[in-house]
Amino acid sequence: MKILVLNSGSSSVKYQLINSVTHKILCKGLIEKIGEEGSFIHHINGGEIFEIKENIKDHSRAIQRISTLLVDHKYGPIDSLNDIDAIGHRVVHGGEKYAESVLIDEDVIGTIRENIKLAPLHNPPNLKGILSTLELMPEKPQVVVFDTSFHQTMPPFIYTYGLPYDFYKNFRIRRYGFHGTSHKYVSLKAAEFLNQPIESTNLITCHLGNGSSITAVKNGKSFDTSMGFTPVEGLLMGTRSGDIDPAILIYMENDLNYTIPQISDIINKKSGLSGVSGISNDMREIVKKSEDGDMRAKLAFDIFCYRIKKYIGAYMFSIGMVDAIVFTAGIGENCISTRESSLKGLEEFGIIIDKKKNRNIEKGTINDISAFNSKIRILVIPTNEELMIAKDTEAIVKNIK
Ligand code: AMP
Repeated sequence: MKILVLNSGSSSVKYQLINSVTHKILCKGLIEKIGEEGSFIHHINGGEIFEIKENIKDHSRAIQRISTLLVDHKYGPIDSLNDIDAIGHRVVHGGEKYAESVLIDEDVIGTIRENIKLAPLHNPPNLKGILSTLELMPEKPQVVVFDTSFHQTMPPFIYTYGLPYDFYKNFRIRRYGFHGTSHKYVSLKAAEFLNQPIESTNLITCHLGNGSSITAVKNGKSFDTSMGFTPVEGLLMGTRSGDIDPAILIYMENDLNYTIPQISDIINKKSGLSGVSGISNDMREIVKKSEDGDMRAKLAFDIFCYRIKKYIGAYMFSIGMVDAIVFTAGIGENCISTRESSLKGLEEFGIIIDKKKNRNIEKGTINDISAFNSKIRILVIPTNEELMIAKDTEAIVKNIK
């Protein structure tokens, strides 16, 4: 099946046309600066890269442009939009309603709308992308894949915060978790690699990118995850603070006279690796500066790795036996020193990294970097959220055909 995967952000749309059977990417691209000056299309077809500068005024125009590129004799791999079997959309917040990906209907659109209050930055552009696609290709089956779905298996004693219960009952304030598509994809890949059924596989999956989260996967299902009501909770991230005492925010407002929008900006955009180091949100820069002796870069790196270790420790006790620890995403797949430092000192617990294997990763494939005597396997697995969306879309569309 040929599946068009769309990921609509506030000023960008990422797209991939994927053959969901062979897993081949037929073409892909990114439209950036939608509605701004200098908007452009970065398009790749058959290994050829194109940079097309043009005015893309809104999401509707962006989707329309993608559809014309796909069938263009120079840029596109297909002759007609009829060759597309279905469309899969990434949506960040599905709330509590969807534990699986779903075929779009009025009810699903209503739910995405309802959840705008829970994901005000993400759900509106996600929805814009969907509505524009429905307008352009109303006859195509379209599927929504939520970032939160995979985590809907968490039990109430894990997703409920210690607030008065009415905050959950009346306002749905609870742990939702994010990066679900990635955690699910690497979990399936890990089980396949370990040659055991996903239903009896226990994992700790570390998605470490600009946004980072760790999930405890028990019997193939999300049991606990570090992101919470929003993607700010948990690990230190590129620009997000991760876990902090909530009373700090009250202190910032009451005693330091910061406004709520300023505080939101601080914890989302000015904290994390960037805020602690004062250098960058990019782990490559942090590692380099830290090795050059910059104390704040080292501090940011140490906080980042310590939190990973702390969550791994907590999740090992919460799910019991662990088959493997998985590293994925930009930092997880590429940063040798993060993997080494975050697992340092865990040898007694059966987690022993092979330093040589850790340094000699073969890109684009699964690498087992555990030492021969490590009781728990340590895997580096490249994530592929687009393929996961394409596979979910394929599975749903097959059932309606
Ligand atoms: P992602 O959000 O998954 O795309 O990850 C992006 C982040 O991965 C970047 O901001 C970098 O911090 C990090 N990254 C990418 N390549 C490397 C590398 N070779 N070493 C360390 N960090 C990397």
